[in-house]
Amino acid sequence: MKKIYCKNCGRELSEDDDFCPNCGSKEKIIELKLEDEAQSYEQIGLKAKENGAKKPFQESVSGDDLYRKSGKWCDKETKIDRKNDSYREIIKDKTTGEIIHKCEEPLSKHKGHGSAKHKKKSETNED
Ligand SMILES: [Zn+2]
Repeated sequence: MKKIYCKNCGRELSEDDDFCPNCGSKEKIIELKLEDEAQSYEQIGLKAKENGAKKPFQESVSGDDLYRKSGKWCDKETKIDRKNDSYREIIKDKTTGEIIHKCEEPLSKHKGHGSAKHKKKSETNED
């Protein structure tokens, strides 16, 4: 669904890769595969990076996302602000604009971003 490539050499990277292990480039392309189209996003956060910092201090990604709970395509916006220790994730219904999931918490308390692990069961009310 989500793939990250080196902009320079095209090598596939993981979300945690700070730079390409192959060519050392810091520019990444994030590709989100949708049903019948492919959209490319450049990670804005990479431009808001300070010298010597391990990770960009601000990242923001928004786009279509298949919300697994409902099986519907939704509009997902994620904002990470490492300077202000803030993590925000909002998922909206594409047709009604209704917020169906919202997560706002200190980044230091937010774990598991980008991985398959969801430790918080309370976030996913199964019904
Ligand atoms: Zn590369």
